[in-house]
Amino acid sequence: MKYSAIFMGILFAAAFTTQAQNADGQNRGQPGRLDLLTAQEKIANGQSFHTHQSEPVEPFRILGNIYYVGASNIASYLITSPDGHFLIDTGVQSMTATIKNSVEALGFRMGDIKVILSSHAHFDHIQGHAIMKRMTGAQVFVMDADADALEAGQDLSPLGFEGWEPVRVDRRLQDGETIALGGVTLTATWAPGHSPGCTTWGMDTVDSGETVKVVFFGCNGPNDGVQLIDNPRFPTLVEDALFGFDNMAKLQADIYLTGHPQMPFAGIEHQMRVQLRPHPLLQQQPWADYIADRKADFERRVQAERELLQGRN
Ligand SMILES: [Zn+2]
Repeated sequence: MKYSAIFMGILFAAAFTTQAQNADGQNRGQPGRLDLLTAQEKIANGQSFHTHQSEPVEPFRILGNIYYVGASNIASYLITSPDGHFLIDTGVQSMTATIKNSVEALGFRMGDIKVILSSHAHFDHIQGHAIMKRMTGAQVFVMDADADALEAGQDLSPLGFEGWEPVRVDRRLQDGETIALGGVTLTATWAPGHSPGCTTWGMDTVDSGETVKVVFFGCNGPNDGVQLIDNPRFPTLVEDALFGFDNMAKLQADIYLTGHPQMPFAGIEHQMRVQLRPHPLLQQQPWADYIADRKADFERRVQAERELLQGRN
């Protein structure tokens, strides 16, 4: 999830420049206390997910049995099989119509979606789960550590942002669990930090006669502005996030897809739409390097926060 420069400015000021109590007696000076933003402030700051990032776009086949059925910058991925389909992420609630139109435009039926999965329990990825479940009759499978949030309709991650309609979870997953349907097997890799149950999904697909390893990158580390060291709600947040990066680094991926695909698709979307081969996503930064860079960014954030805390003492 990305924030506007204005939001980051507000956040940075709120988080790092003052320890003083504000007028209503709350301490708004603790690093990362996003939860101290008012509900109105949170909604205002999440607005782009409800507007230009969730605009409808034409669906297309990415490769093999994997299709893009999401919006302009919020992904939803359809993975098809002869016995029914998977849907990874449902986006914000208003994207339901886009996803339905996309699935049907590609020649598939909503009622054939059997399993709804998620990258992580943040509103911009799972707000449509409840309505999509009603529409398709599909089961909702989710990593155990995000299941309570889905059922509560509340963001229980360090971010503590906008909520969603509660959705009943049919199966709670553990790290490394697999789900098979019609000869397609998806493997859940647990990558906590950004949300407690953030999940990177992996699968093999056959494209032009070749087996391609595809990974759906679930999450970067905790959102910017979140208190990393000694977070009162998530005391092991730094260790959890490092585990997440290391767990993802074990995966092999020829191609990886993300929850906000505008940047990785920029400049190659047309090539993907016309099914150019070799696949343009094969030119991505190698997966191992990508994860190593994300981990290094996170470690720099931890170090900066540590120095800031030491500077105060
Ligand atoms: Zn998120």
